[in-house]
Amino acid sequence: MIGFRLEGEQEELRKSVEEFARDVVAPVIGDLYERGEFPYDVVARMGRMGLFGLPVAEEYGGMGGDYFALCLALEELGRVDSSVAITLEAGVSLGIMPIYRYGTEAQKREWLPRLCAGEALAAFGLTEPGGGTDVAGAMRTRARLEDGHWVIDGSKSFITNSGTDITGVIAVAAITGTMSDGKPEISTILVPSGTPGLTVAKKYSKVGWAASDTHELSFDGCRVPEANLLGERGRGYAQFLATLDEGRIAVAALSTGLAQGCVDESVGYVRDRKAFGGPIGRFQALQFKISDMEVRAHNARLAWYHAAARLVAGEPVKKEAAIAKLTASDAAMDNAREATQIFGGYGFMNEFAVGRFYRDAKILEIGEGTSEVQRMLIARELGLNA
Ligand SMILES: Cc1cc2nc3c(=O)[nH]c(=O)nc-3n(C[C@H](O)[C@H](O)[C@H](O)COP(=O)(O)OP(=O)(O)OC[C@H]3O[C@@H](n4cnc5c(N)ncnc54)[C@H](O)[C@@H]3O)c2cc1C
Repeated sequence: MIGFRLEGEQEELRKSVEEFARDVVAPVIGDLYERGEFPYDVVARMGRMGLFGLPVAEEYGGMGGDYFALCLALEELGRVDSSVAITLEAGVSLGIMPIYRYGTEAQKREWLPRLCAGEALAAFGLTEPGGGTDVAGAMRTRARLEDGHWVIDGSKSFITNSGTDITGVIAVAAITGTMSDGKPEISTILVPSGTPGLTVAKKYSKVGWAASDTHELSFDGCRVPEANLLGERGRGYAQFLATLDEGRIAVAALSTGLAQGCVDESVGYVRDRKAFGGPIGRFQALQFKISDMEVRAHNARLAWYHAAARLVAGEPVKKEAAIAKLTASDAAMDNAREATQIFGGYGFMNEFAVGRFYRDAKILEIGEGTSEVQRMLIARELGLNA
């Protein structure tokens, strides 16, 4: 396959999300971000548009599209705001997809229609206070079988979408025993929100993504039916590795959007802002900054298109997803820094989108595997370590 031209339906989707981000998200997000409020109305409208169900089959309430379509939507949302984009990313890539890929028929029928409609949100509870990179080594959350129920004890940190009024279910990775090789047996268990024994802490005060929802969770004798096991017992490790590979492509698309949003804002600003008797856009120093920003956004897009195209074709994506995430998160971070510089003092003011982009960019080099992790994965795929 050569060429990356969007097909008719893909371009229609991209355009409709571009319009939605411009007409619905942009006018309200600044205030929500400032107040640290979750964008309930925006999420409800995204649900009605079908964005949460983009890669899910119609029989489960989805749109029957694919992961590429989800990433297209994430890029367009990311161009305007990352709190909204990460709410969709975590809700679908980390929340819906594990249920869709590994859930029993009953679990899919119970959860997917509401999740795809955006009436309920799913969260993915993997990271623990002891560490997210060495997640298996740091895992302390345990679940034991007792009278036909899983009883969960432990805690999770930084869990997106876990404490909203519409959070429906959290997929929790927990140690459920010991494997024959002595390593911990990890399984994933679905915990509906409101289950006794699950405590959702006060939401974090974050540097960025201020309008998204992130909490620490604790489990104290939290009991759910045995049937809430997601897929097979002991497959939790493989499930979360595959979920994170896909998720990295989605975060790369979101990051590309932020990188492109910095270009959009900067091109508009340098035409209007005047210094030394004319628009600052006539200064080659600023033109070159914007050209470099456009190059970074372009490269980031090619990287996620390539990884997503392989994923949709059923080809391995471990290396390509890591390359896409590394390329795009670096592009987002660099472009946010340059856009803020181009805006001068106004770039440091909350009323301008670039200030939000600056605060939102850093987490893209941390979440769903840090940049160090992406480099480790690429090196491993090159056969450089065992
Ligand atoms: C806003 C936000 C939302 C999040 N949402 C979720 C979510 O929904 N679900 C979820 O499960 N998690 C979530 N996370 C957690 C996120 O995935 C982790 O923060 C991330 O994986 C890093 O883990 P850590 O913070 O424990 O850092 P650590 O693992 O403690 O790493 C600290 C530093 O050490 C480096 N490091 C560690 N090991 C190595 C090594 N072997 N070689 C080189 N460098 C290394 C890391 O790259 C990093 O720079 C979220 C985090 C944030 C901040």
